[in-house]
Amino acid sequence: MNLSIVIPIYNEEENIQPLFDRLRSTIVENNLFPTELIFVDDGCKDRSLEKVRGLKPQEGITIRLIELSRNFGHQIAVTAGLDHSTGDHVVIIDADLQDPPELIPELLQKIHEGNDVVYARRRNRKGESWLKRATAKWFYRLLSRITSVPIPVDTGDFRVISRRVVNVLNQMPEREKFLRGQIAWIGYDQTFVEYDRDERLSGDTGYTWGRMIGLALDGITSFSNFPLKVATISGFIMSFVSFLLMLYALYSRFILKVYEPGWTSLMLSVLFIGGIQLVSIGIIGEYIGRISNNVKQRPLYLIKDEKTIEP
Ligand code: UDP
Ligand code: MG
Repeated sequence: MNLSIVIPIYNEEENIQPLFDRLRSTIVENNLFPTELIFVDDGCKDRSLEKVRGLKPQEGITIRLIELSRNFGHQIAVTAGLDHSTGDHVVIIDADLQDPPELIPELLQKIHEGNDVVYARRRNRKGESWLKRATAKWFYRLLSRITSVPIPVDTGDFRVISRRVVNVLNQMPEREKFLRGQIAWIGYDQTFVEYDRDERLSGDTGYTWGRMIGLALDGITSFSNFPLKVATISGFIMSFVSFLLMLYALYSRFILKVYEPGWTSLMLSVLFIGGIQLVSIGIIGEYIGRISNNVKQRPLYLIKDEKTIEP
C-alpha cells in the first residue's frame, strides 16, 4: 500500500528537519513503506526550501518538492499537494508539528477498518490564545448549525483520506477551497481519532486574523445560503413593520391631527433600515464576488518547479 503525506509549508525553516525526523521514525517504526512526502512550498520567504532540499531520502521514502509561484494560502497549497499525490491514501499534516506525526498509524488503523476519511479531532489546543480558541469554537458550531453538511467541529485539516476521496476533491471545481467542508460533503465512511494539539514548534502562524476571517467566510458561503436567507427575512420583517408605521403615520396625520416632532424616531428608523440594507448588500456582495472569481476560471495555482530530492 502506498502512502502520500502532503505538507504545506510557509516559512517553516526551523521545523522542517524536526518534522522530517519524526515522520521518518513513525514511518520506519510502523513499516509504512513506500511513502512519498510531498512538500508544497507556498512561496516561502525564508530558508525552508534549502532545508527541504537538504533532507535525506531513503529506501522506501521519497521526498518530492513542489514550489508554487507565490504564496497562494494554506488551502490551495494542500490542494496542489493532493493534485500531485499518487498514494492509495493521503495524509494532510501541518509542518509546524502542531499535528503529531505519531498519530498517523492510529489514523491509518481506522482506514484499514474500512473508512475513507479519518480526521484528527483536537481534544485541546495548547499555545493558542483564548481568543483564537474561542472564535474557532464558536465558528465551527455556528457553521454546523447553518449548513446541511455535517462539518465536524474542532477539526483542522490533519487527516487521512482515501484515493477515491482525493479523486473527487480534484474534480471539485470551486476556487474557495474549504477542504474540511468539501471532504464532509463527499461523504462515504468517515470517522475520527482524538488528540491533543501541540504548540507550534517554532516560527509564527501564517494565519493572520484577516486570513482566518477569509477562511471562515469561504466556509460559510460555500456551504450555506443561510446569510442570504437572513437578508431576505429581515427585509420582509422590516417592510412589514414599515407598513404598519406608514398606516399609523397617515392615521395620526389625518384622523388624530397630531403631528409629532418625531426627530428621534425618524433618525432611529432611518439608521436601522439603512444598516440592514447595507448588511444585506454586503452579504450579497460576498456571494457575487465568489461567483465572479469562479467565472474567471484562472488556474488555482502556478507551479514554479517540481522535483524529487535525490539521495
Ligand atoms: N501555510 C501555508 N500557506 C500559508 C499559511 C500557512 O502553506 O499561507 C502552512 C503552514 O506552513 C503550516 C500550515 O499551513 O504547515 C498551517 O499553518 P499555521 O500553522 O500558520 O496555521 P495555524 O496552525 O496557526 O492555524
Ligand atoms: Mg500551526
